[in-house]
Amino acid sequence: MRKNIIAGNWKMNTTLCEGLELAKGLNEALQGKTPKCDVIIGTPFTHLASVVAAIDTNKIGVAAQNCADKEKGAYTGEVSAAMVASTGAKYVILGHSERRAYYHETPEILKTKVILALANGLTPIFCIGEVLEEREAGKHFDVVDEQIKSSLFDLSREDFSKIVIAYEPVWAIGTGKTASADQAQEIHTHIRQTIASKYEQSIADNCSILYGGSMNAGNVKELVSKPDVDGGLIGGASLSVENFLPIVEAF
Ligand code: PEP
Repeated sequence: MRKNIIAGNWKMNTTLCEGLELAKGLNEALQGKTPKCDVIIGTPFTHLASVVAAIDTNKIGVAAQNCADKEKGAYTGEVSAAMVASTGAKYVILGHSERRAYYHETPEILKTKVILALANGLTPIFCIGEVLEEREAGKHFDVVDEQIKSSLFDLSREDFSKIVIAYEPVWAIGTGKTASADQAQEIHTHIRQTIASKYEQSIADNCSILYGGSMNAGNVKELVSKPDVDGGLIGGASLSVENFLPIVEAF
């Protein structure tokens, strides 16, 4: 059956020293506890290897927030999926709305990144979600369908079954506005149906679909009480143990 997952996305926050302190703090806070969900932290590239070495990776998985759409070579400043994997990170966040909007990541580019991530043994946490105008125009179902189809639906059954989806309505990211639990459930069910129509019901049933967008200790319980909401991708509230731990413990 599908896993419950709480994943932090630190974005471009924390120096190496601060990041290590945060990771170690979370690691300590989880000692002697058995969370009822997988816990992941998405750190900047520069922190990955040090964070992996500093924590119990059986308890906390480590994610990169991006990887290159090229295997290797003359691509100054890029970080390949193989490089990410070589740090001991097991996950990579791909298709975050900030990458789509600010770095012009197209569905084609994301498709290549997903393939390279999988080829290097990384689990993609693939982000989808509509902007406010699309939600207001009632197009959110079509938008997420298109995002899934264009980047993921050429994958084999076996490869698709390794993907984690994060539904993140762009209007809820970093804004303090959260989708209601009913809105999240409605679109997560829809996403699951879309997956079932391409692959099969068991693959859809086994796919973890996370909600992201201003999730915090106050709203997490209601959101994850919905049957199709399998956890969260957390931005702002993942930047302190004090805010992140109660989210992990909501299950
Ligand atoms: C995110 O960017 O993935 C996110 C969900 O951010 P926040 O929790 O800050 O809205």
